[in-house]
Amino acid sequence: MLRIGIVGLPNVGKSTLFNALTSAGVLAANYPFATKDPNVGRVNVPDARLDRLADVVKPQRTVPAVVEFVDIAGLVKGASQGEGLGNQFLANIRETDAIVHVVRCFDDDDVLHVMGDVNPVRDREVIEFELALADLATVEKRLDRTRRAAKTGDADAKAEVAVLERAYEFLKDGRGLWEAKLTDDEKATLQPLSLLTVKPILYAANVTDAELTGDEGAHLKALRAAIVASGELASVVPFSAKIESELAELPAEDRADFLASLGLESAGLDRLIRAGYDLLGLETYFTAGEQEVRAWTIHRGDTAPKAAGVIHTDFERGFIKADTVGYDDFVSMGGWKGAREKGAVRSEGKEYVVADGDVMLFKFNV
Ligand code: GDP
Repeated sequence: MLRIGIVGLPNVGKSTLFNALTSAGVLAANYPFATKDPNVGRVNVPDARLDRLADVVKPQRTVPAVVEFVDIAGLVKGASQGEGLGNQFLANIRETDAIVHVVRCFDDDDVLHVMGDVNPVRDREVIEFELALADLATVEKRLDRTRRAAKTGDADAKAEVAVLERAYEFLKDGRGLWEAKLTDDEKATLQPLSLLTVKPILYAANVTDAELTGDEGAHLKALRAAIVASGELASVVPFSAKIESELAELPAEDRADFLASLGLESAGLDRLIRAGYDLLGLETYFTAGEQEVRAWTIHRGDTAPKAAGVIHTDFERGFIKADTVGYDDFVSMGGWKGAREKGAVRSEGKEYVVADGDVMLFKFNV
């Protein structure tokens, strides 16, 4: 399951967003015993294809893919008082696949800004600085040990020292490794350290309602420019925490109309999740049986056995082949039966790279 950590300064709209996404209606219904931790919320991944598949197959249940959001409180203290990050905070954020940084881009004199004024460029740096300091401590510790190993002539250790030193140079200036344009080899070397500033980051820009449909305001433009200038490969998703919370109060069936009345095509939360999928190179394939139609999350480029392994490790180990049909064919031909009659179902083997939207049925040895 995809896990996303939410960070940001106080009063930028994190809780408003988080409460909206964990409100009863949005919470993943298929996880009735979802964690009791109030800082964790599981949300269904919106995907219209799932509904179409359910229309065709008429299964007993439909199960969307799920994303877990973790509201990582606690950055505040370090950022505003120079105290550094708490261990619990670090543990929480280390376990996530990506970070969403909520940045305030809305002006509202009634909402206090902890740093005095609205300035998303500065806010971004404050948070980056904190995350970089946390990584710096991790890298320093590792460097000490690896240097000692390198002295004994250990070639791997020597190579690692070089990578760690390059990381150190960035981090000591309070710059995240996002800007370092690490090679795949360097990333692999640093992987065991679970560094924070290597994780893909998305900026959720909390803007005024008008900006969502009209021209972007100065704050949002400045944020975009700063990200481009830094060389960071990050997406910016404008949203309005206010609209998200209004949306969450509505019955599910009224939400589309509400969005349309504002001139919006989709909720900010949906756009955030989609951007997260893109950023992480994630795709969806489906299983579609009479009992259950279900969406499964895989990485772009995953082979059929790997995709089967998302359902169960036994499926991957005992993989024989997979009946496979593209989503469009499956829907237009009326499901498995029609697709088989028209010869649209292929039998794919171990080397097959799964395509986004494939509908699959695995054959395996147990
Ligand atoms: P957090 O500290 O980052 O979790 O911020 P909150 O979600 O608690 O929001 C802080 C304050 O800003 C609250 O009073 C919210 O009602 C207000 N707020 C949040 N989002 C918006 C927004 O999009 N527009 C306006 N005008 N106020 C907002």
